[in-house]
Amino acid sequence: MQPDCVFCRIVAGQLPADIVHQGEDVLAFNDLNPQAPVHVLVVPKRHVADISALAADPELSAILLAGIRGVTDELGITEYRTVFNTGAAAGQTVFHVHAHLLAGRSFGWPPG
Ligand code: 5GP
Ligand code: ZN
Repeated sequence: MQPDCVFCRIVAGQLPADIVHQGEDVLAFNDLNPQAPVHVLVVPKRHVADISALAADPELSAILLAGIRGVTDELGITEYRTVFNTGAAAGQTVFHVHAHLLAGRSFGWPPG
């Protein structure tokens, strides 16, 4: 755990979050500033900075994907968008890897 990481603090129960799904190694909670009717963040409980670092751990990568599936099963959604922002220039503001899972409206392409 990184004490200055907001998602580590949520995982540790030090900050409140609206949890929608969790497994032994993965946690999913509603985004504080939702960009769609459904906007869930799916994170590994272990601190990993971004998707590039996550790729070094195939087991945890699979756990994160399974966590995304866990949320869609839980919420009964079959059409959704997932986004991993990687690096500040791409919009990453929290450097604990997370999938944005968005649903409940249509989405433009290409993304902004
Ligand atoms: P990023 O910009 O790194 O891709 O996404 C970070 C996301 O975390 C943003 O959508 C932001 O709204 C969300 N966020 C930041 N702090 C908190 C928090 O304390 N609780 C929750 N639930 N979401 C947060
Ligand atoms: Zn963290």
